[in-house]
Formats: sequence, structure tokens, C-alpha cells
Amino acid sequence: MAIECPCHEGLHIFEDHFYPEIIDPDSGRVLPEGQEGELVLTTLSKWAMPMIRYRTRDITALVPGACGCGRSLRRMRRIGRRSDDMLIIRGVNVYPSQIEAVLLEVEGTLPHYQIILTREHGLDQVEVQVEVTAQVFSDRVGALEALEERLADTLERVLGIRIAITLVEPQTIQRSEGKAKRVIDKRGQT
Ligand SMILES: [Zn+2]
Repeated sequence: MAIECPCHEGLHIFEDHFYPEIIDPDSGRVLPEGQEGELVLTTLSKWAMPMIRYRTRDITALVPGACGCGRSLRRMRRIGRRSDDMLIIRGVNVYPSQIEAVLLEVEGTLPHYQIILTREHGLDQVEVQVEVTAQVFSDRVGALEALEERLADTLERVLGIRIAITLVEPQTIQRSEGKAKRVIDKRGQT
């Protein structure tokens, strides 16, 4: 439904066949051009099986302005995330992939983590458990605390909310075959 041009600044949408909209996946409201949200498509040329405002669950944004290649078809950013992965924590939209990106940047952490959501006194609480290398774990206690602090600060900058970080020993977080269970949402149980 879209194709990249030599300018590589987004994908041109076949607007003669698809009418694209970007909505807030939470409220369903249509978002202004350039803002990130869920892609909604309406087919314009199909007679037998038309799709009307079909929610793709893909998170992207329409690219504002004209493209250098001269095509006037509107562009969208390449799709990276899915709206069904989105968590709403204290009213803020959070994607596990954002948390993962921060964890992977920091030296000493392993790509094994778990996001645990609970609700206390009606307020969402988030804890991220991250495995660290054996070397980090055997360091003095102060080093672990400093790393927890640094991760929490970085996550706060990226997400806009404070998340409790708990560093755990290697092999602590349960592995499952195939896709790991990254998010444990216990908010419905409390
Ligand atoms: Zn172009």
C-alpha cells in the first residue's frame, strides 16, 4: 500500500487506493500530520471487500511537507511498533521497545528483562527487573545502586515517568521457549 522512493524519507502511500489516517490508539481521535499514532486505512478502489477505517495496529506517522522526488503522494514513516504492544501507565503511552532500547545502551545489562505492572491505592506502579552480568553483580553494593539510578534516570527522560529498576543476577528471569514474556500486568488483580 506504500513504497519508498529514492529520497528514503518515508513511504509514499498509494492514495488513489487507500485513505490513511493516524489516530490516538487510546481515544480513537484523529491526530495532526506528523504526530505518531495508529495507522487507520480505508480502501477507495475495492468494490467486493472494502475496508472502512480499518485499524492496522501499526504505529507510524504521516511525514509532513513535499518529497524531493516530486511525487505528491503523502508519505508515512516506516512502521516500527504495534499499538497492541502499547502499555498505558499513569496515563502515559509506553512501549516495551522503548524500555528495551534504553537497557541495551547501558553497559553491564543483559537483554533479559521483565516489566511488572501493579496497582497500589489506585495508582499504577511499574517495576523493571533487569539481569546484569555476573561481574556487575559481584561488584560492591554501591555500584549496583548507581546503575539502578542511572537506568531509572535515563528511562524517565525517555518515557516521562519514573520507573523502579531492580537489577537481578544472571539467569533469574524465567526463560520461555520462543517469545519471552516481557510484560506481567497484575493491575486487573488488585
Ligand atoms: Zn519521494
